[in-house]
Amino acid sequence: MSEILSKILHKYPAKEAQIIQKAFDFAQKVHTGQKRDSGEPYFSHPVEVAKILADLNLDCETVSAGLLHDVLEESDAKPEDLEKEFGPNIAFLVGAVTKLHRVSYGGDKGFMENFHKMILATAKDIRVVLIKLADRLHNLETLDDYKGNREKIARETLEVYAPLADRLGMGEIKGVMEDLAFPYVYPQDYKKLLDLTAGQIVENKKYAEQIKPAVEKILKENNIGYLAVNARAKHLYSLWRKLQKYDFNLERIYDLVALRVIVPDVASCYETLGILHKYWPPLPNRIKDFIALAKPNGYQSLHTTVFCQDGQITEFQIRTPEMHTNADYGIAGHWSYKEATNLLDKKYSWLRQLLEWQKQNMTASDFWENAKIDFFKNRIFVFTPKGDVIDLPEGAVPVDFAYAVHSDLGDKCSQAKVNGKIMPINEALSDGDIVEIVINKNQRPSRDWLKFAKTSKARAKIRERLRLVS
Ligand code: MN
Repeated sequence: MSEILSKILHKYPAKEAQIIQKAFDFAQKVHTGQKRDSGEPYFSHPVEVAKILADLNLDCETVSAGLLHDVLEESDAKPEDLEKEFGPNIAFLVGAVTKLHRVSYGGDKGFMENFHKMILATAKDIRVVLIKLADRLHNLETLDDYKGNREKIARETLEVYAPLADRLGMGEIKGVMEDLAFPYVYPQDYKKLLDLTAGQIVENKKYAEQIKPAVEKILKENNIGYLAVNARAKHLYSLWRKLQKYDFNLERIYDLVALRVIVPDVASCYETLGILHKYWPPLPNRIKDFIALAKPNGYQSLHTTVFCQDGQITEFQIRTPEMHTNADYGIAGHWSYKEATNLLDKKYSWLRQLLEWQKQNMTASDFWENAKIDFFKNRIFVFTPKGDVIDLPEGAVPVDFAYAVHSDLGDKCSQAKVNGKIMPINEALSDGDIVEIVINKNQRPSRDWLKFAKTSKARAKIRERLRLVS
């Protein structure tokens, strides 16, 4: 444990390291004699959690709170004691994480209340949810030894924590969490997937390693100062989800193993794309520019699928080091707390939306029902005629789009032009659609709209208008 500690301490300036050391000593004392289900000393858990947080380059307060995150629950220590010893910020973080513990999942009231609390605490300080995610990650890593209901923990991970990590742009943590939880929730499917894909993954990895020198040679010849070329296998759970959409036909999955090219700047990304296409022709409709059009969780990269050497279909992902860090760590990559708070306003507007519901005095169960639609459903990204991205849940219709843009547009929307074609306002939109709302001055929302509007925002506005007229 002291070995891990010294690695952590090394990352922080002396003054901050002192605080972390103090938190370490405090927690060690509290957890003395306590054991995990594995028989290991309990204290190993908070230390591992702190290590995950330090590996994310989070600040000293977050790492200290990670060390202390279980002390209130496991001892007579009071929040006031923590405040006296460590100041109000660390005490707040520990208190907030403690309140989220003992979550009983299953759509029951306790769980919904906890979820509600977590969102509120997150809005107050994003670091709360980062500690909670690190806590969950380590619990998953050691889930085999856990004596309680493992499936429940794993299912809760797939349904709440992994989507939460995803929505915060933390792709790596999301992928790792899902892969750890997968075999506990769907043991048969997990086995089936391994049987189906293991051989092919090994083969594709071998192929990717083989062509790596050819890729590097091409880049060198064209004066691209690339920083790295890596082969990267797709995470198993997301592979399984994708296979479900493609009738388990492995031949239709092109990114089983992708080649990732890291180049110094945005211009080199596009240059690299052009150079690769010169040597290896791209498959039509498989070029995705997530640089110009970032995903709403902030993900940026260029993707293309080409007929590579020997006609082998291969996906390339081209990005800068900043985009790479951002894809893996998301909001945690912006480690200064001020910057993160700022980002919450700009980039993670869904969180602001959750907070707006809070003002509407929703019950915890309504809050959860809404979150399930607006927050945990798969998302589609559609465009305004000017090219602004609107992020909607799957199944959303033009009315949802209109209300997402502006309430007035929603109230008066009578038809939609989708990709230039007139469409009724109740037809489901697809990813990538360009949507223009046709308004009619005399249009009013009707009760019928509630039959097809999906988002909580549209539904709340429609109900509000109906109340005004009746
Ligand atoms: Mn814990």
